[in-house]
Amino acid sequence: MHVEVRGLNKRFGEFQAVSNVEFTIGKGQLIGLLGPSGGGKTSILRMLAGLESPDSGDILFHGRKVNGLPPQERGIGFVFQNYALFKHMTVAQNIAFGLEVKKWPKAKIKERIAELVELTGLVGFEKRYPHQLSGGQRQRVAFARALAPEPQLLLLDEPFAAIDAKIRHELRSWLREMIDRLGITSIFVTHDQDEAIEVADQIMIINKGRLEQKGTPREIYQDPQTPFVASFIGESTLIEDIGQLRGFADAAALGGTKGLVRPEYVEVGRANEFALLSATETGTVSHIHFRGSEWLVEVKIGDIKLTTYRSLEKPALHPGEEVHVLVHRAYLFNETDSWVTENR
Ligand code: ATP
Repeated sequence: MHVEVRGLNKRFGEFQAVSNVEFTIGKGQLIGLLGPSGGGKTSILRMLAGLESPDSGDILFHGRKVNGLPPQERGIGFVFQNYALFKHMTVAQNIAFGLEVKKWPKAKIKERIAELVELTGLVGFEKRYPHQLSGGQRQRVAFARALAPEPQLLLLDEPFAAIDAKIRHELRSWLREMIDRLGITSIFVTHDQDEAIEVADQIMIINKGRLEQKGTPREIYQDPQTPFVASFIGESTLIEDIGQLRGFADAAALGGTKGLVRPEYVEVGRANEFALLSATETGTVSHIHFRGSEWLVEVKIGDIKLTTYRSLEKPALHPGEEVHVLVHRAYLFNETDSWVTENR
């Protein structure tokens, strides 16, 4: 389903939960709504679902305005964080529920259940009750139940939040595969950036009720359009006065005094590791942590503290050691939090 949202606003009392949000979603795409808690992600999802009505703005499915339509007439499937399965019903009964409400013929329901348990890898579990399933299996039942009535849009609210890390990882790739196979337009809410980056075709960053940026995971990571997006995605350090660093002395002249630096823009090492030593700063290693695949090194240059990674193949650095530091790149922005694009 092609989804279009125009000028969406929602207040709760005096509080503006969603502010002028606009976007379009192509058919078959998997979209991640990502942002800090209370930013408005769930409110947007609920308005798409018809569980909440916007104060202003339009929601269009396939070019048709659905503002006034109740949830059951919108062709939507839902999956929630807490499974929301019917505890007294078996897997098959849970899947059948929406179809019975819609008065599907018995034989067709049976057929559909068989298709869905197959699709979601739940063959043999049809007669089990939710308490006889693992968290991951329950979430797959929730997914099967949501898909049963053949919705055109699937809405998932923190679908994996209640599941432990390892299974969550498996479920993510499983979801990605399912969505690809079914070609169903899907929107999921998460505040886990790794999840959004790994799974989504496009990410929408929602903060304080606003859509800060919409783009592919790569665009969001590599070309953040606002300081908020840059600091929210990936790791970064904010340097209040970036002009102190060699290579950024002209930052103020360009209008940007602050800089955001990601660990991968920083190189730290001994003098013999740098081809052009004059381009480096001198710093002191303040901490070093073993991370399995690499070292995490914290280094101080005056009162600026930077973090970077270091290959395990290179000699280990030691806390207190004086080192050279090269900052390749920084996102510059000014007091009003606008980017200085010339020198990014
Ligand atoms: P989280 O990640 O914590 O779920 P979110 O980004 O999904 O957050 P929303 O649940 O959309 O955010 O909430 C946005 C803001 O609107 C919050 O400050 C919340 O307290 C407020 N809010 C949401 N629903 C209501 C409501 N029914 N009545 C009053 N305030 C509400």
